[in-house]
Amino acid sequence: MVRKNQRIALLLLTSLLIAGGAFATDSKARPVPKALFIIIDGVPADVIEKTATPNIDEISAAGGYTRAHVGGVQGTESQTPTVSAPGYQSLITGTWGNKHNVLDNRVDAPNYNYWDIFRIAKAYDSSLLTAVFSTWEDNRTKLIGDGLEAAGGSKIDHYSDGYELDTERFPHDEASNYIRDIDALVATDAATYVKESGPDLSWVYLQYTDDIGHGFGDSAQQEKAVKIADQLVGKIWAAIKERQSLRNEDWLIVVTTDHGRDSKDGRDHGGQSPRERQTWIATNSARLNRHFHEDPAIVDILPSIATHLRLGMPPEIKAQLDGESFVD
Ligand SMILES: [Zn+2]
Repeated sequence: MVRKNQRIALLLLTSLLIAGGAFATDSKARPVPKALFIIIDGVPADVIEKTATPNIDEISAAGGYTRAHVGGVQGTESQTPTVSAPGYQSLITGTWGNKHNVLDNRVDAPNYNYWDIFRIAKAYDSSLLTAVFSTWEDNRTKLIGDGLEAAGGSKIDHYSDGYELDTERFPHDEASNYIRDIDALVATDAATYVKESGPDLSWVYLQYTDDIGHGFGDSAQQEKAVKIADQLVGKIWAAIKERQSLRNEDWLIVVTTDHGRDSKDGRDHGGQSPRERQTWIATNSARLNRHFHEDPAIVDILPSIATHLRLGMPPEIKAQLDGESFVD
């Protein structure tokens, strides 16, 4: 009886040692890189800077905050309207409008020869888990061209979008409260999915700030909308922090906007004025290089995510990028 107990104890000790050894090896393994980017629509740099945004501030404190720009290289062929869809496409393809050919929100004929970051990720490793959480369905169906042959045919693994088309569940009201509610829904979905599944590459898009910008311009209402967006960012950031505390993962979060607004009253955008071109980027990356603080552009986000995720890409795709990485 005693001998049997001793044997069990020895077995237990051995398995503990093995488990301990495995754990020690595991904790030394390189953490798995993950990336998530958030576009908050149409928030000028001066507005984000003067509004209390504790969650975005916490992300910036871990990495950095910088003013940035959209709109291409002014006065050259790459000059791009400071309009939403052209901005998103510049982010996800790392190129300006003269290449990706999304020059307005109709998105009639994107040039899919300029691969988006999801296609690059899937081509590099088809097992990478991709996700989109968006208040505008076209981001996935048209800009990414989800599943379209012309866009490479690969599919986004998980998405939460299209709610703006469901007028029964979200009756459209003039105050855009339905957009505010859809933003909350997609951000909550993103936080839940991050916690449960830890997607390798995700895009979150929040629209309410732009609707309020068009309705009220520079105003207390706009600041309130920005604070709401910051709370939603906080939910996602909390999910990322929880994940990182439990697992050997290295998350990059990038929060940005797609354009500024006019300097008259902030209701409009689309032109090339300094305030319309000026944007901002907040990120938790602790590996920011000098370029981050030298007025980076929205097209620099793709190469930065690719660097963080250690994505290889076909040389011809890499050669046509207009941006450069702001992380090392
Ligand atoms: Zn916009």
